[in-house]
Amino acid sequence: SLGDGTFENPSHVVAFVKCECPGRTVVPGIGMAMKLSEIKPDKIYLSSCLANAVPGCPYTGAKDLANIIEEKTGIEVVVGTHDYH
Ligand code: SF4
Repeated sequence: SLGDGTFENPSHVVAFVKCECPGRTVVPGIGMAMKLSEIKPDKIYLSSCLANAVPGCPYTGAKDLANIIEEKTGIEVVVGTHDYH
């Protein structure tokens, strides 16, 4: 990204991690992405399609998922990337 949306600065994408129901794979998926890339990201962004999904996630809301990821990784999580309508 060139600093648009909720990206404050031009950013480099280290990895995309896909969520799969019921959401338990996200944290190990992030761990694997960090291991393979050998990069600890400055921030983790939850996609807008996940954050703004209607109907919402029946397992974990985006805020809860963000809290879990922050707790497990110690990395700041930003909920949503772009304000698309
Ligand atoms: S519905 Fe929830 S658990 Fe399933 S993929 Fe979407 S965010 Fe992940």
